[in-house]
Amino acid sequence: MITSVYIHIPFCDNICTYCDFNKRFYNEEIVTKYLNALEEEIKEIYQNDLIKTIYIGGGTPSSLSVNNLKKLMKIVKIFKLDKNYEFSFECNPENINYEKLLLLKENGVNRISMGVESTNKKFLKYLNRHHDIKIVKEKIKLMNEIGFNNINVDLIYALPNETINDLKKDLDIITNLSINHISTYSLEIHHHTILGINKVKPINEDLDCDMYNYICNYLKEKGFNHYEISNFCKDNTYSNHNLVYWHNDNYYGFGMGASGYIKNIRYTNTRSYRNYINKKRIIYKETLIKKDRIIYELILGFRLINGINKDNFKKKYQKELIQEKNIQKLIKKGYLEETKNNIKIKEKYLYIENSILEEMI
Ligand code: SF4
Repeated sequence: MITSVYIHIPFCDNICTYCDFNKRFYNEEIVTKYLNALEEEIKEIYQNDLIKTIYIGGGTPSSLSVNNLKKLMKIVKIFKLDKNYEFSFECNPENINYEKLLLLKENGVNRISMGVESTNKKFLKYLNRHHDIKIVKEKIKLMNEIGFNNINVDLIYALPNETINDLKKDLDIITNLSINHISTYSLEIHHHTILGINKVKPINEDLDCDMYNYICNYLKEKGFNHYEISNFCKDNTYSNHNLVYWHNDNYYGFGMGASGYIKNIRYTNTRSYRNYINKKRIIYKETLIKKDRIIYELILGFRLINGINKDNFKKKYQKELIQEKNIQKLIKKGYLEETKNNIKIKEKYLYIENSILEEMI
């Protein structure tokens, strides 16, 4: 049973200096053709399942013109929605506006994720983001007026020359916005991005770790629930869509560069526009046997602060979680903790989650 859908809109008005996503510059004609190809893909693959979460990400979905946004919303109507569905839409503060927000609301979008990234003009410029905090506040006010009350903002930290004090200022401002979810990202420098080409070096790891711990403590004090390594929410407004990924459940991935997981097959679509519109879509396909599925379950599940539920694991794999890989050894070493229902990484070791997983697997 597949209950989730990811749709990729790979167009942006500007290219950020750190961006490693699948994207290209916006062009009305290309986008229109892309949406036709997207509709074809969905009609071919979707099996009429009852969908509980839809996530439209990018790229910048809010870069679509009103006409193309209408077209996209019409395509989404193909899906049969559960009555308690979550429908998320990614926005960039620079190109989302009243008309587009109203259209989203009228078409059932009920969760907005906005790329704020920083509140500091100097850092925004460094990242080639074309908004400022005044614009962010205006756009959130519009969202609230239109009736959106489930809003995430993304924050990037660990920028070159950023200090804990800069980070504190970002957090002070962001936590005063009318939002309920924050996703944080430590800046990664990939070699083919503008920062990578300019040979920018990442900040030192101790400072990165201090910043991570600062964020966790700060947001906890402000009443945010730290529920995934990099994600925080208030009043149980978890990202239900992302929980599907972290629970290693099935989902459709539609669009250029999108990945999906259907009936034990993980697949990734081409990043080439030409191939995509010519229906040469899938460039990678991996059929997972039980052993592989368990590895994914561990890698994804230990990202959650509550870790992995022992009963769910047993139901899924007919095996005891505690017997898997080096889990017992890591409990003895003090990195993992077994509670009545779950096994999880101890909070103080979340920052070194990758090393723990390496040792585990
Ligand atoms: S808006 Fe997002 S997808 Fe587009 S260039 Fe910036 S980071 Fe990349």
